[in-house]
Amino acid sequence: MSKKVVLITGASRGIGAATAKLFAQHGYDVCLNYKSNQQAAESLQSEIRSLGVKCLCVAADVADEAQVVSLFEAVDHSLGPISVLVNNAAILKPQARLKDMSAERVNQMLCTNVTSAFICAREAVKRMSTQMGGQGGVIVNVSSVAARTGSPNEYIDYAASKGALDTLTKGLAMEVAAEGIRVNSVRPGLIYTDMHRDGGEPNRVDRLACKLPMQRGGQASEVAEAIYWLASDKSSFATGNFIDLAGGL
Ligand code: NAD
Repeated sequence: MSKKVVLITGASRGIGAATAKLFAQHGYDVCLNYKSNQQAAESLQSEIRSLGVKCLCVAADVADEAQVVSLFEAVDHSLGPISVLVNNAAILKPQARLKDMSAERVNQMLCTNVTSAFICAREAVKRMSTQMGGQGGVIVNVSSVAARTGSPNEYIDYAASKGALDTLTKGLAMEVAAEGIRVNSVRPGLIYTDMHRDGGEPNRVDRLACKLPMQRGGQASEVAEAIYWLASDKSSFATGNFIDLAGGL
């Protein structure tokens, strides 16, 4: 039996790091992609290797097509055929209203959060497709409940990027279903990660958690469990589906 291989984008911290650890605990060889935090990525790599699986760490900006192509070639070379792609990398910018949003900000958001998922999915499908000699596989896109709420007055650019990602999930799921590839999505709500610091409000989860039906924020590990389930054979009839993990929001 060949080893299962997962590639997780933006995996040096937060939900990506928790997902990498969980897949490793289940025996997957793991490719950790990161953009710039080499120290965090290499520390996670050591932790994962100590679980007895292979772990490759690759610096690549997933918004850059050439770097994505090289990233997948590195996985081919070091770990073998990819079984699961987790499109996790994304950015959140400090809160702004539309009147203060530059085209540069919006384009960077869409390129990092959406175009990256298209090009990573393209490279994964080429390798997974049973019609192209592959063994099939699974793509999990990490979206957000912001795709449903729209995040008015603060993050409409981010919300719009996640809305586009959801449409990619639906369309691609149907496009590649006959090639043995499933495409699903998780939509987290308020999760304790450093993304909120980048979004200009480090204590956002604590401020808003009391308004949720469950009255708490979520942990990255709780999102990782859903990603793992969607990637596993336990969800073998699920494609084009979304799991919201948002404490009842
Ligand atoms: P995070 O900021 O810790 O993780 C995002 C990762 O993506 C970071 O490691 C970052 O360096 C990486 N990244 C950004 N741009 C990149 C690029 N161009 N190339 C490669 N890597 C890049 O935040 P997180 O909360 O762990 O976010 C993970 C996913 O969960 C994201 O898709 C995010 O939109 C989604 N999400 C998070 C929350 C939350 O409350 N934390 C809620 C909903 C959705």
